[in-house]
Amino acid sequence: MSKFRVDLPVRDTYLPYGKQYLDDEDIQAVISVLKSDFLTTGPKIKEFEKKMAEYVGVKYAVAFSNGTAALHGACFAANIGQGDEVITTPLTFAASANCILYQGGKPVFADINEKTYNVDPNSIEKLVTSKTKAIIPVDYTGQPADLDAIMAIANKYNLIVIEDAAHALGSTFKDKKIGSISDMTMFSFHPVKHITTGEGGIITTNNAKYYEKLLLFRSHGITRDQNQLEQYEGPWYYEMKDLGFNYRMTDIQAALGSSQLLKIDKFVKRRREIANIYNKAFQDIKQLTIPYQSKQSESSWHLYVLKLNAEQLTGNRREIFETLQAENIGVNVHYIPVYLMPYYRNLGYKKGTCPLAEKLYEDIITIPLFPTMSDSDVNDVIKGVYKVIDFYKREAI
Ligand SMILES: *Cc1c(COP(=O)(O)O)cnc(C)c1O
Repeated sequence: MSKFRVDLPVRDTYLPYGKQYLDDEDIQAVISVLKSDFLTTGPKIKEFEKKMAEYVGVKYAVAFSNGTAALHGACFAANIGQGDEVITTPLTFAASANCILYQGGKPVFADINEKTYNVDPNSIEKLVTSKTKAIIPVDYTGQPADLDAIMAIANKYNLIVIEDAAHALGSTFKDKKIGSISDMTMFSFHPVKHITTGEGGIITTNNAKYYEKLLLFRSHGITRDQNQLEQYEGPWYYEMKDLGFNYRMTDIQAALGSSQLLKIDKFVKRRREIANIYNKAFQDIKQLTIPYQSKQSESSWHLYVLKLNAEQLTGNRREIFETLQAENIGVNVHYIPVYLMPYYRNLGYKKGTCPLAEKLYEDIITIPLFPTMSDSDVNDVIKGVYKVIDFYKREAI
């Protein structure tokens, strides 16, 4: 138990770092599918895809069983194969890099920008080789990556950009919705993300060729589309054109997704409100750095990440983390750099590859942020953080 824990915790119930919100309409939407003829491969899938495509402002969307499957599909559609290199960030969930391995490609990790925590375009460009095929930037915490610079590099070297926007539904970059900028963009509908389908994911794109390939990949590589068949033997006939998977979303999930999407603006508005309250509470404390806010983009705030600054705090991240937990505040750390995982180390990836990401990992703590947090929940988190920082003699900037 932590040495700071000398009195009662600021909360008597545990506050998680993220949580879904479902209302009666969501539940009714699911029930109506359960009473219908199609539990999967029915009309709710197309309906959800159409709504998602409209929301982000693209022609096509393809729903998947989860975000990781969607990323795998995007790597397939981008034709990533054996020996191809794909550049991504280490400061992300493992899935952003694993999807490259699934296709036999090689993840290459570019370091982050110290201020934004997003992948640094200069670092990306230095790593481009004749084998580079694609870039997978991540909109870390909801803050869009430097997409202008990344798209410029992609154009210069003829690379495909697959954006991992698992954190960024509702974010904008230069007034354009995230999901409409990269060649393909992935969103996740895991319960901690902006909207949920239980498990689920989607790719949005304006590219018809990618769209066709995503559809094939999601369902065993099988098509019934007569334009794509090599021959036609009758109404029962289909062909398997590629080695695909069963990565389909169910209609139950899709109906929930459509219902949740009706609330996205409300969810994002509340997330931004909470982030602003946190910013005000923490911006003047010398020992903390609040998240960077770009002038050219607006985050939808999936996560709120505090960076510990002063020497005496940095070395004590674990103690601070455990104390906040003891205060019943659901803290987390996003993320352990992917290539430090034993599986990646066994593949030959080395500590020291991305020093800025490794340093940042040592200094960050994610505090709770989800739309149904009350003002009093938010205040509890602030009180808890103050309490811990006070132990180290809080100083103003
Ligand atoms: C959640 C997440 C994923 C994976 O999504 P799932 O739906 O859980 O498979 C990928 N990348 C990032 C950055 C995520 O946060």
